Formats: sequence, structure tokens, C-alpha cells
Amino acid sequence: MKKWLLAFIVPALIVGCSVNPVTGKNELSIVSPQQEIAIGEKNYRPSRQSQGGDYYLDPSLQTYIASVGQRLAAVSDRPDLPYEFVVLNNDVPNAWAMPGGKIAINRGLLLLLEDEAQLAAVLGHEIVHAAARHGASQMTRGTLANIGLVTLGVATQGKEGAQLYGMASQVGAAAWMAKYGRDDELESDHYGMNYMAKAGYDVQGAVELQEKFVELSQSRQAGFLDNLFASHPPSTQRVTENRARVASFSKGERYRERYQKAIAQLKKDAPAYQAETAAKKALAEKQGREAIKHLDKAVAHQPDEGHFWELRGHAWKMLEEHENAQKAYTTAIKKNDKFFSPYLARGVLLYERGQRTAAERDLRRSYELLPTPTASYYLGELSLQGKQYDQANSYFKLAAQSGGELGVQSRQKLQALQLQMQPQTFLTVTPAVSRSGYLLVKVANTSPRAMDRIIVEVSGGGASKTIRLPAVLKANSTVSINTGIAYMAEAQLNYRVRALKAVLLD
Ligand SMILES: [Zn+2]
Repeated sequence: MKKWLLAFIVPALIVGCSVNPVTGKNELSIVSPQQEIAIGEKNYRPSRQSQGGDYYLDPSLQTYIASVGQRLAAVSDRPDLPYEFVVLNNDVPNAWAMPGGKIAINRGLLLLLEDEAQLAAVLGHEIVHAAARHGASQMTRGTLANIGLVTLGVATQGKEGAQLYGMASQVGAAAWMAKYGRDDELESDHYGMNYMAKAGYDVQGAVELQEKFVELSQSRQAGFLDNLFASHPPSTQRVTENRARVASFSKGERYRERYQKAIAQLKKDAPAYQAETAAKKALAEKQGREAIKHLDKAVAHQPDEGHFWELRGHAWKMLEEHENAQKAYTTAIKKNDKFFSPYLARGVLLYERGQRTAAERDLRRSYELLPTPTASYYLGELSLQGKQYDQANSYFKLAAQSGGELGVQSRQKLQALQLQMQPQTFLTVTPAVSRSGYLLVKVANTSPRAMDRIIVEVSGGGASKTIRLPAVLKANSTVSINTGIAYMAEAQLNYRVRALKAVLLD
């Protein structure tokens, strides 16, 4: 997966020595605790957006997960961190922690767990990543590429693909992925169990969690779970280590019933999400009608899931039923107006249908929620059409960082913009000496457009002179101008010449 947007920059390289709040060990760090918190605050929202958005169909599930998280955070070694816990609307069984205690768990993982003790094992583990400053130490070790990089949007998708399959729930792998080292994982398991015990949970839950992960990694589903295994590599070592410690703790609570009650809605909706998975597969195979059939099922089961409606929009668009596509995107936005993706899809569709004002409104909203390259590209186009060249330039610059067709097109637009804004940079100017001993400037127009009012500057010997070319310079042509400066010794040609200004002609 391409990583193409560095959402934060470590402000200054200040290396300090500090005591790790969890392990008590002395360690070097280039990131202060304040910076960690700032990194988490800045990246939490966009990361959630790029991974399906927050799960909103059952707000009581969010409350429940947060309460379990806060219960563990309160007994952690850094109870003062601004912890937050959210459930993401994402199938992939994954969880992650950002520096500063910003934690997320996917609904796909919640479905695999059986009770609150297992959930506490996940959240306790993630709390240790934050509390023990694993992110900060990754950065200090220089593996910045793996942490703090938030890849916003859909890097692998081209201009068309982004609209058709640009469901954020599918881009999990391109988003936040903190690859902690093996030692960090073992440390998180170890202290996570301590937190579980302190909060009154049965630490056996941590053993079962690792057993589940090992089992999953061996199952035929493994490919689908690469994301999870990349960020939390399962291993029998982790199972063994957790198992060995269980006996040293007193027996705690499991809270199976209240966990099952909390995920009841998820369980009820599981068939709808399965139909969604089938629809995505059909879309990827360009089977629009087939996709709609699956989505009909999904929507009949759970009409309030915005993702289903957005996918319906993609399917209708694939079938070139634009009116239906627009309606479906609108429904998706109505179901969840805090998610970037349906705004982006509708914005692009409106743009293609020539409704620029409405398109711009959607694209801007989408961009505010998550600045994707696709939104940038279309906002760039709109700025260009409105002759807002500086603005267009910054949008295309952002879009140009993405891969694929969109990146190529953005770079072409940037070139065109540069020609528009600074045509003189497309002129090559070189000095020469005429036979009669005068200084000449040779001006070549390398652009595909004619230029007029070209001004070049000649400087040397402590003086400078500007010269305006007397005529239009055609595209891909060269002209020689006599500067009137007597210059006998060609061998000592030390004048500098450059193009100052030019105006494009159509
Ligand atoms: Zn981990």
C-alpha cells in the first residue's frame, strides 16, 4: 500500500532521556509526552474516517466499549492520558492504539469475542501500546514509516475506481497501521494482563484472545486478515507466555452476558454485512445487477446502514443509472452525515453531470472530513475552471502524491498550471556572442503555447539590463536577440541571462 500523506511532522528533534511510565526502564525519546498527545489528537479523526467511520447504528455499543476501556485505563500506569475508545464501522477484525491513548476497535473484531474479559484483553493490550509509549519509541528508532503516517483515502484507486469501489471500509489496509515490534507486542500482552487483573477481569481472556488469533491466522480467511496480523502478529509464543502467567493471578470476572447483550445488534445485522461483502465482490467483478441483488438483501435487513446505500450508488453508477446513483448516495448521506465517502461519491457524480455548485459543496464537505486525493483532484478542477490558480495548484499538489491514474493526471494539471502561472519557466535562455562582437541572448520557447511580451534579464560585470523581445515567440521555437552590449572575448563569456516574464497567447 502506498503511503502518501504525512499528516504530522515531529516538530523538532529533541532527544531526551526519560523513565518509561510502564516498564520503569530508562529510555531515549525524540518525542515528548505532549507531542504524543498532539499526534494522537491530530490523527485520530482522519484515521477513523479512512477506516469506515465510527459505528453509529447502536450508540449504546459505543458507550459500553468506552466504559470498559476507561475502566482499564483508570488502573493503567498512565491514567492521566486523554483516552478515547471508539468502535469503527469496519469488518476487519482489528484494533489499534495511537500515541496519547486514542484507541479504536472494529466491529469485525467485536463479533469474534465472546465476553468482556476477552474484550478487556484487547483494550488492555492497546492501552499498554499508548501508555508504554510504543509509538514514541518506534519514532525514535526511526521507523517513522510505520507509525504516525496516516494515509488518507484510497491510494491504490484511480479516478474511476475511487468512485466505484471507494468504500472507506475497504481501505483499512491503507490507513493507520502501527507495526509494533515483537517485544512491544509481548510487553503489551504482559502489562495488559496486569491491567485486566487490576480492573477485576479474568486474565484467561488474554490467553483465549491469542489462541483465537493463532487459529484465525491458520484459517482460510487469513488473506482477509492480513491487516490484523501485520499490526498484531499472532504467535504461539504469545499464547504460551500468557498461559504461563494465568496461575499467578486470582480469578476474575468474565461478564459474558452483558457483553453478548452489548453486541446483540451487531450479531443481528451480521447477515446484512455478509450480503454487503458479496455485493463488494460483485462490484469488483463489474457485476452491477448482481451487486444490487445482494444490497437489496442487506438493506431489507438493516435499512439504516449508510455503507449499503453508498454501495448501491456505486452499483447504479456502474449501470449508468445516474439518477438512481445520486438518490442512493443522498440516502447514504442522510443515514450518516458524518462520513466523508458518500459526499465524495455524490460530489464526483454531480461534477460529471455538470452540476458544479452542488458538486463543490459535496466535495468540500468530503474534504473537510477526510482530505482524499480524489476530492483534491476535483476541487482542483473546479478551482482551475474558476481561474483560482493558486488554489488549484495546492489541490493538485496534494492529489499528485497519490498513485495510479489520478496521480498522473494531477501532475499533468500541475504542469499546465505552471505554464499558466509562470510561463517564463518554460523559456530556455542562453548567452552567445555575435560575429561582430555583440552579446546575444538565445531564447527558446519549450512550451506548447506561443508567448508574447517576453522580458529577459542580462547581468554581469556588476550591471544588469532587461530586454523585451520585439515579437511573439511561437511554440517550440527559438530566437536570437542582440543585447547591444559589446562583448569581444567569447572565451570569457560570464554574463548571466534569465527569462523574467512572459505572457501566454492562446
Ligand atoms: Zn499490539
